[in-house]
Amino acid sequence: MEFHRKVFIRINEDVDVPLIGCLAFGIIDRGTNVIEARANSYCPLNCIFCSTDAGPYSCYRQSEYRVNRELLVSYVKDLVKLKGEDVEVHLDSVGEPLSYDELPELIQDLKSIKGVKVVSLQTHGAPLTYRLAERITSAGLDRINLSIDTTYPEKAKLLQGMPWYDLKKVMEIAEWIIKNTNTDILLAPLLLPGVNESDIEEVIEWGKKIGVGKRFPGFGIQLFLRHKHGRNPQGLKKMTFNEFIELLKSWEIKHGVRLIYDEKDFGMHSAPSLPILFQIGERVRVKVVAPGWLRNEWLAVPLGRYMNSRVITVISEKMEIGVKIPVKIIENRNNIYLAKPI
Ligand code: SF4
Repeated sequence: MEFHRKVFIRINEDVDVPLIGCLAFGIIDRGTNVIEARANSYCPLNCIFCSTDAGPYSCYRQSEYRVNRELLVSYVKDLVKLKGEDVEVHLDSVGEPLSYDELPELIQDLKSIKGVKVVSLQTHGAPLTYRLAERITSAGLDRINLSIDTTYPEKAKLLQGMPWYDLKKVMEIAEWIIKNTNTDILLAPLLLPGVNESDIEEVIEWGKKIGVGKRFPGFGIQLFLRHKHGRNPQGLKKMTFNEFIELLKSWEIKHGVRLIYDEKDFGMHSAPSLPILFQIGERVRVKVVAPGWLRNEWLAVPLGRYMNSRVITVISEKMEIGVKIPVKIIENRNNIYLAKPI
């Protein structure tokens, strides 16, 4: 494996860009009462199945981002006003949310926003320590979606792509959280067909034993899917989504626990969303302000109407920071903008 050097960009300190528009940082609004808040993009692990190609050995990434905490909180605050009174802020990332250096403070800030009912986060647990667990749980974190894909420490080192990954420690701290705090844990292992079916059955039994699902559903098993810029392990068995659901149904009977949920079980529903400001095919004049997340990508902000209201990722092999150019929008789903120079 080769280590690729990346540019580290602190948003608001190194470069001033809006927090809406880029998958790698800021706010993702998918039109529900769940706001995804992405404070950092980096991750210390190198999972062999990572859909976002995170970690030190990433092949496609050229930049990692850290968002200023106050700025992120102010964006969430504004969006909550639009969403209503029962918002969940989910701290997720194209990396590892636990690696954000002001995470307890961020959780506390988010919990104090009127209208925010739940703050949750997604993690593989690598940076967990008892001290960090104590700080994030007492800051008011409601739920941890913990991805543990096996109960065997040596196998976890292989799956997580790092020899230092300490699964035993992660499991011990998870158990401590369940027993000693109000924070719940949802176990979210990734099923790699042909690789870890029996491991996941053991994760289910372990979850039952420690009592996950105190306040929310206890399990959220996911099926591995190939992604264009993700890491795709070789030799996986093929499994359709219907086969996956059938497998979950059989495990529900075998293990006597519910494994299939829908959005309502998480209190999720549709809610007003931010307007899409640029349509596909629209020509927009932008200023290029920083390297983008992946290679051949650049962060740009619109000029003129909607100046600085969204960040737009421009795809181009070569570009100079500071240039002002016209681009054509090629993607705008969920206010995530991709464009090409005209
Ligand atoms: S912990 Fe998550 S973000 Fe990090 S490498 Fe693994 S799957 Fe990717």
